[in-house]
Amino acid sequence: MVRIENLFRYRCHLCGNEYDPSPEILVCHSCHAVQDPKEPLRGVLEVCWDYPTLRQRIEAQGGHWDVLDLLPVEREFFPPIPVGNTPLWKPFGLWKRLGVEGLYLKDDGANPTGSLKDRASFLVAAFAKKVGRSIVAVASTGNAASSMAGVGAAAGLKVQIFMPKSAPIAKRVQSLLYGADVTLVEGTYDDAYDASLEYCSSHREVLSRNTAQQPLTIEGKKTVALEIYRDLGGPPKRVYVSVGDGVILAGVYRGFEDLLRLGIIGQMPEIVGVQAEGSSAIARAFKRGSFEGGIQTHTVADSISVEIPRNGYLAIEKLKRYNGRVILVSDGEILEAQKKLASWTGLFSEPAGAAAFAGYLKDVLGTKASTYHETLERELVEEEPVVVLLTGNGLKDVESALKALSSKHP
Ligand SMILES: *Cc1c(COP(=O)(O)O)cnc(C)c1O
Repeated sequence: MVRIENLFRYRCHLCGNEYDPSPEILVCHSCHAVQDPKEPLRGVLEVCWDYPTLRQRIEAQGGHWDVLDLLPVEREFFPPIPVGNTPLWKPFGLWKRLGVEGLYLKDDGANPTGSLKDRASFLVAAFAKKVGRSIVAVASTGNAASSMAGVGAAAGLKVQIFMPKSAPIAKRVQSLLYGADVTLVEGTYDDAYDASLEYCSSHREVLSRNTAQQPLTIEGKKTVALEIYRDLGGPPKRVYVSVGDGVILAGVYRGFEDLLRLGIIGQMPEIVGVQAEGSSAIARAFKRGSFEGGIQTHTVADSISVEIPRNGYLAIEKLKRYNGRVILVSDGEILEAQKKLASWTGLFSEPAGAAAFAGYLKDVLGTKASTYHETLERELVEEEPVVVLLTGNGLKDVESALKALSSKHP
């Protein structure tokens, strides 16, 4: 059996430099050397597999593969917490309301700490166990922190969190209850990020879980795409994903890329990124070709409120290569989508997740979307599977849900 270490390397998406995976290697040294702190991370590394050998392995198993076979850490290091395998909803009621068929909801709020972030935390925790690091550090405004805290608790790791003072209380309480060390930082997420980097560089036993900076955050999130393929019994036609730093977006692409390179699917599904109008750095850069700094964000969807999207360059590279799209939704549309989703299907998503559903409604149903609540039973139109990824549980942010309740629609 080939050891996992010999099956993949880290590869810089900008210059192609390769590195042997290790806890010290985070970003590409040469590309990162010219980093401007006001732009996305330069030199983000991707896990780059030896696909021919992987394919042989799968063939040797009679063509069977498991999602966990495609992760770069052996199972014996996985923490004992049931991350992933979240339900793929087949919401018949919604199909009837909207007059569409083939719309699926991937409910990642069903993860143990309530968000898709658990997929990244799970792989990072496994890697920390494997390489003998006892502390994991992360800067976050909420879900990445509470996720690492919860998964770290299961793994028996110490978790050090850097949060801006303004972070939502529920996510802070969650982190503390899981037993993490929470340092509140004056200023923004960027200040918390700097504090976490300083901490990581001055403590040898620490592994960084900072989003995009730690290559395994992207690789961990790819499992959501692999599960969608597995549970549909084939590839979807299109997937709607909300976008903040752009790590989930890149992770979804990574999962389908694995399937493409292994010859399991023949074509990349269309990936549609959804951003809030008040936090649209990736959408703007995708259009203009470059990032502009210094635009303050403002959106009800705190988990996708990002001024400098850490994974901006890689996210845009993927969107371009695979003809993806990015669409914008307003806070009003997000809150309305959150309310419709909850009252029509029984799925309560936090605003950042509901943004993806708002994007779907806007994209597929256009301006007619606001009248849908009036028309109940419709003719069903046959469609290929389309998946809306719901990334976080609604109970994480009750304040915003209150705003949705007091909005006029539906
Ligand atoms: C983090 C997060 C996102 C956005 O993910 P990025 O990788 O930052 O683009 C979306 N929804 C929820 C609930 C999140 O926690």
